[in-house]
Amino acid sequence: MRGYAIADVDLASFDRQFRARCRVQWPDRYRLLDALPADAPRIARGGGVSYVAASFGGDAISQGLGAFDRLLAFDADAGRLTVEAGARIGDVQRFALAHGWYLPIAPGHPRASIGGCIAADVHGKNPARDGTFRAQVEAIELTAPMRGTVVASASRNTELFNATFAGFGLTGIVTRATLRLARPPAALVLRRVPVRDFAEAARVLREAANAPVLYGWHDGRPGHFGRGVVRIGLASDAPETKRAMLPRAGRDLPASITPLPFALWNRAGIAVANTWLGLRWCRPGQSPLALADALFPLNDARTYFAGYGNNGMVEAQWLVPHARFEAFAGGLADTVARDRPLIALIASKLFAGAPDGFSFDGAGIALAIQIPAPAESRQRAFLGALAELAIVHGGRPNLIKESTLDAAAARRAIAGFDAARARLAAHNPGGLHTSELARRIAL
Ligand SMILES: Cc1cc2nc3c(=O)[nH]c(=O)nc-3n(C[C@H](O)[C@H](O)[C@H](O)COP(=O)(O)OP(=O)(O)OC[C@H]3O[C@@H](n4cnc5c(N)ncnc54)[C@H](O)[C@@H]3O)c2cc1C
Repeated sequence: MRGYAIADVDLASFDRQFRARCRVQWPDRYRLLDALPADAPRIARGGGVSYVAASFGGDAISQGLGAFDRLLAFDADAGRLTVEAGARIGDVQRFALAHGWYLPIAPGHPRASIGGCIAADVHGKNPARDGTFRAQVEAIELTAPMRGTVVASASRNTELFNATFAGFGLTGIVTRATLRLARPPAALVLRRVPVRDFAEAARVLREAANAPVLYGWHDGRPGHFGRGVVRIGLASDAPETKRAMLPRAGRDLPASITPLPFALWNRAGIAVANTWLGLRWCRPGQSPLALADALFPLNDARTYFAGYGNNGMVEAQWLVPHARFEAFAGGLADTVARDRPLIALIASKLFAGAPDGFSFDGAGIALAIQIPAPAESRQRAFLGALAELAIVHGGRPNLIKESTLDAAAARRAIAGFDAARARLAAHNPGGLHTSELARRIAL
């Protein structure tokens, strides 16, 4: 129902931890973005594929940007692409790749919108090499009641530009963005380096800091904790590595995935999956890697996500500074051995940036820990222990990922929390833009 109308819709976060009946508007004209009653709480909604409820809840009207998905201008020589903010990252990559360019920084879900990638300042396949999404955005156009429509960039409305990245929609609706594209590698070759634990993974990640693709997959079971593989995607000119470069639209991971009626990821299921992963992926060696698969490796993960069943999952992602990472990982191994939580999978990534506001950035190693049935008492206790351990070791949480994090933990973990909050409030008079995430974390 496009236009001014507002419909009541049941929405759920991707991790299934928050559901609400929400008022949703799908404007299809720019003037309709500003047609709600002036004091109506509101929040932009892009692809709606965040693990957390960032684009709904909190009594806000969700304004869906799906109709604003056009590619507006393209400079094929300079690699500059202006798009509407509802355009999906998978579609933008298809267009860019077809013209000899790509976005090096892209999240794993192809249905994330450009607006959502900006508002969450997402990272891609190697944040240590590429930085976060802001590094490839030249300018944005934003609209908000009272302020109207403005253009912001590193040299114009700079404060607003900076606050909008990891601003979670609270600075207004991004309507357009001009993106800086890069030349894709001619081909990729994937090197697999098996690791026994996180200390070894950290060494391998640091040594491969300049690879276009770099992340680890790890077993989270007691007795196997941290064992896995670091995947290093390197640019290659070898003819046998030249494979189809375009991700096919039909393969895109759906925005919502119907859960299986039973949970696959119990202790036995996790053991089978890890054994299979070990045999399939954790052998040393190298093989050609299609850029499409490198960019969206989760396109084949429908069963994986469905396997969490109705109770869903949580992804807790913490970035821990290098100097504390080994101690953090050691403490985590002890906690896992003692409390025996269920952990489906852990992914590791290297970061080399500096945090700004609420952004998920810094110099260190991030672990994304995927946990089934987070409402169960053992699982909930583990999530609390993980947050405590991460905070003690200087860890920083990814607010767009973890539904169970509370305001007190976020405030302790994020240095300069109050200043970041005040910066957002300055661009959000009366707290007009809000969401479940904004309420829960008291942003
Ligand atoms: C399977 C999966 C894989 C993922 N992989 C990664 C990854 O590799 N790296 C990573 O960093 N993240 C990753 N994410 C997280 C995801 O990329 C972010 O949550 C992203 O914000 C989703 O974009 P969206 O368009 O769906 O945003 P939504 O979920 O719709 O909204 C997210 C936030 O963006 C705001 N927003 C959306 N559009 C606009 C707009 N036009 N103007 C202003 N604000 C707006 C919303 O208000 C909200 O606060 C992953 C998520 C999933 C489920």
